[in-house]
Amino acid sequence: MATNFVQIENDSEIKRRLEAERARLRKIAGLDQPQHFHRPVERAFTADERSRVTILFGGFTWKHEDLIRAVFQGCGYRCEKLPVPNVAAFQTGKEFGNNGQCNPTYFTVGNLVQYLQFLEKEGLSRQQILDHYVFFTAGSCGPCRFGMYEAEYRFALKNAGFDGFRVLLFKDSDGIKAASGEPGLKFTVDFGFGMLNAMHLGDVINDLIYQIRPYELNSGETDRVFRETVAGLCEDLRNRRSFEIEQRAPDWTKPKFKSNKILRNTFNVFGKWHEHMWGKDYLHALHSAREKLDSVEVDRTRVKPLVKITGEFWAQITEGDGNFHMFDFLEREGAQVLVEPIATWVAYLMYQAKAHAKAKWPVNRPYRNPEWYELKKQFANYIGLRKKLWGIGAGERMWNYFYHRTIKHLGGITHQLAPQAELAELAHPFYNQFARGGEGHLEVGKNVYYTVHKLCHMVLALKPFGCMPSSQSDGVQSAVINKFKDMIFLPIETSGEGEVNAHSRVQMALGEAKVKAKTEFEQCLKSTGKSLNEIRAYIEEHPELKRPFYHVPHRAGVAGTAAQFILHVSERIDKDTRFWKRVRVGGSAIPATSGD
Ligand code: SF4
Repeated sequence: MATNFVQIENDSEIKRRLEAERARLRKIAGLDQPQHFHRPVERAFTADERSRVTILFGGFTWKHEDLIRAVFQGCGYRCEKLPVPNVAAFQTGKEFGNNGQCNPTYFTVGNLVQYLQFLEKEGLSRQQILDHYVFFTAGSCGPCRFGMYEAEYRFALKNAGFDGFRVLLFKDSDGIKAASGEPGLKFTVDFGFGMLNAMHLGDVINDLIYQIRPYELNSGETDRVFRETVAGLCEDLRNRRSFEIEQRAPDWTKPKFKSNKILRNTFNVFGKWHEHMWGKDYLHALHSAREKLDSVEVDRTRVKPLVKITGEFWAQITEGDGNFHMFDFLEREGAQVLVEPIATWVAYLMYQAKAHAKAKWPVNRPYRNPEWYELKKQFANYIGLRKKLWGIGAGERMWNYFYHRTIKHLGGITHQLAPQAELAELAHPFYNQFARGGEGHLEVGKNVYYTVHKLCHMVLALKPFGCMPSSQSDGVQSAVINKFKDMIFLPIETSGEGEVNAHSRVQMALGEAKVKAKTEFEQCLKSTGKSLNEIRAYIEEHPELKRPFYHVPHRAGVAGTAAQFILHVSERIDKDTRFWKRVRVGGSAIPATSGD
């Protein structure tokens, strides 16, 4: 019978045919000569380029950015901040970036491309842009798409025709070590402390604006005064004279410092530290800022729901299209916004570093199973972990101390950092603290923390479209809401489109929060036994109560600013009344006594 089968006797012929078939299939599957990704070797940003290369950066609020730019400039760099990313930037990011990225990637990557295109329109050639600009950003190893940012920047820049544009990284995992291999950008002591001040000032001022503006008596005054204040602080950061022991030391010690490098460097580090944190110039700048800010007149009897903002790092910070201008919208709708400081994120990183070190120590310790008599090994195991924990713990304490110190010098009314241990503990039943990525357990932890301590009327989580960690948090938030029945929690997915829809959802939740705030206020007013007019009349007679930095002690269980305020004013009225009664009684008793 005739068949199509071919009998091949020869082994080498079989091998040849197999190879040919394999090659054909690999070609169809696109597996031929796979091109593996290698991080491109980038042209270094060298020290002698500093005077002609401009460092670009962005992604924070305008307050942080102005202050950070001032520090860069004060350290001798040319520096410019990128504009706030808008929808056009988002579309540019989509056009030149990969598919399937999260929303902040498109906004930030597109924003950089857009800025470079703007420079080109201004008359710079592409080569000039490549030679005279670099971009400075944070990077990470992930596990979310944050780890892809660097590659995304390069990919989009290449697609947009800016191949070879330099992207400098400050990795969050290296953040504690603060080291960079780029000699053009050196992390000196002045730079480090300057940045520390800039970040803390930015956070505190940002918080203050959102606390004061909803209550300002003269519309627009807060923005104007804060712009002037930030400009003044920038002046100080930019023009601060660097501490050099050889200039400050008495003449007879100068030769010693000149010849001994270790001695000189040690004194310089401590001197610079002192100058940046306790120096007269810095404290003077803070106090004049405080005086300026205290000049804004406020009326804190306005009843407003307090909305705590949580969510993904970038979406909860940006003040533009990236979160549908949510803060402006909330204020227009009559709410007070409680923003999240970047300092919480840094505190979270340090707290997590400690927790990870502890959890991994059984694997990482130098000796696995030392015998009971091997005391040296046991001690090495013990001290190895302690050294790590003490190091990070010291960093944590310093971070918190300097943050709260900035609060104290700028009026003392800014919110303190939420305790990380408590956030982790509150979140843990719902979200494992070791599930990394994005804000990790913070979204859940903050939601519970602000609700159980009655620190706000509503929690609004801003989470970008396509954000993996925020989607995880959202998944468990339904269990959280089930447990805490009086919680008003609204997650909003931010994107380049859908602003009207998002605003209308917020409006609905805000309606409930307004009722909550009003009920709380009415109960507090009733408890004082006074009318609102009486309280207002007292405020008119005591103008210090219209100052934003007038200290109103916090009362546990009351969230609203107006409710807290009237309780305090009522107490003052009662005290004054008791005092005048005493004076009157004392006054009438004197003639009676003397007449005896
Ligand atoms: S946290 Fe979410 S939005 Fe932010 S980088 Fe990661 S995946 Fe993207």
